[in-house]
Amino acid sequence: MKIGFIGLGIMGKPMSKNLLKAGYELMVSDLHQENVKEVEAAGAKAATNREIAEICDVIITMLPNSPHVKSVMLGEEGMAAFMREGQIFVDMSSINPTASQEISAQLSKKGIKMLDAPVSGGEPKAIDGTLSIMVGGDKDVFEKMKEMLLCMGSSAVYCGAVGAGNTTKLANQIIVACNIQALAEAMTLAQKAGVEPQLVFEAIRGGLAGSTVMEAKAPMMIAGNDKPGFKIDLHIKDLNNALDCAHSVGAPVPMTAAVQEILQWLHNHEGGQKDHSAIAQYYEYLTDIKIGR
Ligand code: NAD
Repeated sequence: MKIGFIGLGIMGKPMSKNLLKAGYELMVSDLHQENVKEVEAAGAKAATNREIAEICDVIITMLPNSPHVKSVMLGEEGMAAFMREGQIFVDMSSINPTASQEISAQLSKKGIKMLDAPVSGGEPKAIDGTLSIMVGGDKDVFEKMKEMLLCMGSSAVYCGAVGAGNTTKLANQIIVACNIQALAEAMTLAQKAGVEPQLVFEAIRGGLAGSTVMEAKAPMMIAGNDKPGFKIDLHIKDLNNALDCAHSVGAPVPMTAAVQEILQWLHNHEGGQKDHSAIAQYYEYLTDIKIGR
């Protein structure tokens, strides 16, 4: 099975390398040649998008957002023009579920099946090949692709028809953002009331409030470390998709709307490239403290 991989950024690079390690033949492309060179050195073949479309059995994209995936697949000179019946497209980017459905509908006119298969876990889990993968599309296509997906992740869960993978990812992003906000708010309250945030963390991490978010982000907040991780600007993109999707299906999401405004404030104050745990810096601004320092 020949695989094409387009989008070799923070996530795409280690994911494509894990496919190479598993023995797959890989053709790759990215706008940045240094990214392509790095994956070429690991055994992939550099190619144009058109070559990938014409040659590969399975095409994977790991691009920033809906417009990028739409343009690579359906734009002028997009890959769909050069693809044929029976090929499979797996979009692993986090995009709007509506966009996944639109792309799938266009591709199905040519007999091309699509899965939306976004991931959670960030760069460390992309490197380890232990991402959580959430998948939408036809169940039989999922079953065919599962072994390949599990070269990049430790789980691949079928969530429903195309778009269901990205709907699940939006749920994930809402939960993560609101958790970070709650953590920042609680740590700020504790410090203002005279209790050290580090002691609060140690006292409650094993209880009901403990979480993966707390384990990863409380130490960063307390140390004032905002090195990404997952950037504020990417989280804004995901929550815009969540708000858009929520409005279109009639699901009120007041918590998402509130945390999105905080992320937007951070973006406006040179925080767009910081880790999303920098939500704490908004609370520090409101209270004129430094959490844990
Ligand atoms: P990134 O910006 O590092 O990588 C995107 C890559 O796509 C870049 O290398 C860029 O050059 C390339 N690209 C853009 N347009 C292209 C085009 N037309 N043709 C070819 N290449 C093109 O982003 P990332 O962090 O790797 O994220 C990719 C996706 O994964 C996003 O949807 C993001 O939300 C999601 N995601 C990221 C993380 C994370 O921790 N970084 C975690 C989970 C999910």
